[in-house]
This record gives sequence, C-alpha cells and structure tokens, in this order.
Amino acid sequence: MTVQWASGQQLPLTRPTQRDRVLAQLRHGPTCGTEFLEMHLPRFGGRIFELRKEGHAITNEVCRKHNHYSRQTVYRLT
Ligand SMILES: [Zn+2]
Repeated sequence: MTVQWASGQQLPLTRPTQRDRVLAQLRHGPTCGTEFLEMHLPRFGGRIFELRKEGHAITNEVCRKHNHYSRQTVYRLT
C-alpha cells in the first residue's frame, strides 16, 4: 500500500521511522554524522539518544573513515 504525498512521491505506509533507519544503519556498520546527514537523517543525534535509552549500546569515536574538515563522531553499535 502506498500513500500519495503532496510532492507526488509514493511512499509505503509501513515506511520505517527515522529511529528504525538509524538502527538499521548502525547494524550495518559504524556511521558518522556526515553519513547520517547524507541519508537525510538530520535528527540522528536525538534518535541515537532514544536508542541508548532503550538499551542499545552505542559508542562514540572520532571518524577516521573520511577527511572531514572538522572533528566528526562515528557511532558504533556494540
Ligand atoms: Zn566520517
């Protein structure tokens, strides 16, 4: 089933929440803030906070995967 949005985009009604997408991405591998932004998840910080409250162990590390101009945090599900 799909729902028609004003933009004309067809999206499934069972569309995962941002939190589901953040968790799925972390299960896939460590992810830095820039990657979450590229996935159009600008509120990843809040979602990670919620996931931690639910009992998921997520650590912060400095991102060494990319050449960031500024210090970026990588989130890792342990
Ligand atoms: Zn990075």
